[in-house]
Amino acid sequence: MKETAMTRFLDATDVARLVGGIGVQAAIVQLADHIRQDFLRWESFEKSARLASHSPLGVIELMPVTDGVQYAFKYVNGHPRNAQHAMPTVMACGMLAEVETGFPLMLADLTLATALRTAATSALAARAMTRHGAATMALIGNGAQAEFQSLAFHALLGVSEIRAYDIDPHATAKLVRNMAGVPGLTIVPVKSVRAALAGADIVSTVTADKTRATILTPDMVQPGVHLNAIGGDCPGKTELHPAILEGARIVVEYAPQTRLEGEIQQLPADAPVTELWQVLAGHAPGRAAADEVTIFDSVGFALEDYSALRWLYAASHAHHAGQHIELVAMPPDPRNLYGWMTEAQAGGEVGVREVAVA
Ligand code: NAD
Repeated sequence: MKETAMTRFLDATDVARLVGGIGVQAAIVQLADHIRQDFLRWESFEKSARLASHSPLGVIELMPVTDGVQYAFKYVNGHPRNAQHAMPTVMACGMLAEVETGFPLMLADLTLATALRTAATSALAARAMTRHGAATMALIGNGAQAEFQSLAFHALLGVSEIRAYDIDPHATAKLVRNMAGVPGLTIVPVKSVRAALAGADIVSTVTADKTRATILTPDMVQPGVHLNAIGGDCPGKTELHPAILEGARIVVEYAPQTRLEGEIQQLPADAPVTELWQVLAGHAPGRAAADEVTIFDSVGFALEDYSALRWLYAASHAHHAGQHIELVAMPPDPRNLYGWMTEAQAGGEVGVREVAVA
């Protein structure tokens, strides 16, 4: 196909409107399907642990991945104290490019997409790991990710009751308010972690603190429960007491990265873990017995962001979302960058070249 070589650009509002038009639950279901498809192509991807730059208050990470046809990367931060500056803990943007030419196909805000893909991946893992008939989830940490986790477990597993706890009661009140109109989903605010866990088949920990936190202790974890551990995603940043990990079945996204960043950083480097793609492909069980404690030790992997970008790219075409921008210089004569620059400086019509894009 011949098309003008412009990059599709989706800013944060474009993505919000796109997701709003599709519907959040429908978007999560579509995205979960994209993630599943890509994890089933695991061997096709060139993978690496993300590149992290740590500072006293946070982390900034670059997350690349490619299947040899498309290349994707995400820029993302994690700053648990950002709320003090009226900024989100997690902010992200990313790019999808074609490998054949290196041309950037799309540049997009990925803050919302990160919440959607994290929730979709959690629910995909839980669907393969949770006891049959699970209907109640404890949700510890009711910040920015909380609604998306709630909706993903509702849409993909049929969870109907969420027992919500946060050290900040305003966060829980916000969750209750935002989920009030969702048919078939009840948010029950509670006053402690223990109260949240009462009768819960699934426990999601989604807190933010740049420390070795102990949100759950072994005495709180009942046989057969599934733990969806989201907030421990950096060296020195965990949520589970290490004794919970011993004896549990642990599934991770990409073991080389999770051994550095996940709950399992607290275990010996050779502790047995299973990668999610193996479970989704049916090569390994997500759960072997009804009384087994299962843990999805999520840190967030670049492949999920590739899936999110791939989904956003298709959805933005279908719904005519975003705009086309001249992100990279595209001189009509590709070897005459200088001539193109002088024309641009003179205010002339610099034009764009026609190229073939997929
Ligand atoms: P956020 O700052 O918006 O919300 C975090 C919430 O946790 C806040 O409401 C805070 O009050 C609460 N909290 C902190 N300590 C707590 C405690 N001890 N008990 C109960 N609640 C507590 O952050 P967010 O964007 O919702 O992200 C939550 C966590 O998930 C962060 O740690 C983030 O790094 C992580 N995260 C992981 C992935 C992944 O792929 N695994 C993706 C996105 C975010």
